[in-house]
Amino acid sequence: MGKINPDKYDIQTCSVRSGQVRTPENENSEPIFLSSSFVFNDAAEAAARFAGDEPGNIYSRFTNPTVRTFEERLAAMEGGERCIGTSSGMSAIMTTCMSLLKAGDHIVSSKSIFGTTVSLFDNILSKFGLSTTFVALTDYEAWANAITPETRLLFLETPSNPLAEIADIKRLADLAHDNDCLLVVDNCFCTPALQLPFKLGADIVIHSATKYLDGQGRCIGGAIIGPEAIMNEEVFGFLRTAGPSMSPFNAWVFLKGLETLGIRMQAHCQNAQIVAEWLEGQKAVSKVHFPGLTSHPQHELSKTQQSGSGGIVSFELKGGRDAAWKLIDGTNVFSITANLGDVKSTITHPATTTHHRLSDEQRSEVGISEGLIRLSVGHESTDDLINDLETAIAGI
Ligand SMILES: *Cc1c(COP(=O)(O)O)cnc(C)c1O
Repeated sequence: MGKINPDKYDIQTCSVRSGQVRTPENENSEPIFLSSSFVFNDAAEAAARFAGDEPGNIYSRFTNPTVRTFEERLAAMEGGERCIGTSSGMSAIMTTCMSLLKAGDHIVSSKSIFGTTVSLFDNILSKFGLSTTFVALTDYEAWANAITPETRLLFLETPSNPLAEIADIKRLADLAHDNDCLLVVDNCFCTPALQLPFKLGADIVIHSATKYLDGQGRCIGGAIIGPEAIMNEEVFGFLRTAGPSMSPFNAWVFLKGLETLGIRMQAHCQNAQIVAEWLEGQKAVSKVHFPGLTSHPQHELSKTQQSGSGGIVSFELKGGRDAAWKLIDGTNVFSITANLGDVKSTITHPATTTHHRLSDEQRSEVGISEGLIRLSVGHESTDDLINDLETAIAGI
């Protein structure tokens, strides 16, 4: 089969076809290679593989055919040169930092990022001499002022978790490049189906494959996509030595997930729009955070940068934590879980779950109030989801 690459084919075709290499069995669906190691025809071939003189598999900590199919497919969809699969979204971020930075280097990061990423930067990478300055996602002056001669990476998520704030990727890419820094975008909330950060100037794209790429809440995994000049030596070198590698079984699940990503994201966007508009009309709700609403501060930017608004809707209740917990406990259809990007709708209280490790001060700085609830809107009927929320609100 010829190479299905994004120069010639649409992203939707790449999502179904890229990266597949048929075995002599001529299977139509990609096989799972559950093999920890690979054999050589003779000792000389083994030596050539280990010396890097000859391409080919050695050991699944380094490369695995199923993982490679996933990597090539996701790289084609994002429009990046090379993708490396990792054991989780967090290990994708850890691998990016450990492979590209050294003691003394500095990161400027949005403060509105996944709570565990804040802990990784603040509590773990800091032990190895890496420092991080956190800035407000849309305060471009603060980003510029935070850059020092030691800064190597600018890191952000857009839309952010859980408030769906949107940053101008192009503007931050220009700032990064003017200062010899790399712009790293965690593209978890949009996926390549809705947003292509490389087209806007990003250097590295990160994924938690656990979320929309899987799409049905089954496996943990992650990915890093970037230019070969960075990925081949530094990032791959770290992965094969330190070992945060993706499981081939999980890679196969993500591969199947990518095949339906486009239509799933469309359904998530449509359903979330309906739920967000309904929530905006409720008396108990003081604010709804969703880029598809005209009340969203970056609604216009979202329309130029994203091809859809995504599936995450956050809203604030007037009654604080007490009301939020009562609403959550009063739902029946939503799953009470911190995961997102699933066909099953989920509901969570960020202040006491995903963001509980932040101090009260950090939480209030990023706008995560006690009355805030985050929904990941799935594929159930929106009538049923709205009825469920209506009953739960009435019970507060
Ligand atoms: C979940 C998540 C991560 C971490 O991914 P894991 O697969 O749970 O390790 C990173 N960034 C964002 C935006 C996430 O939602």
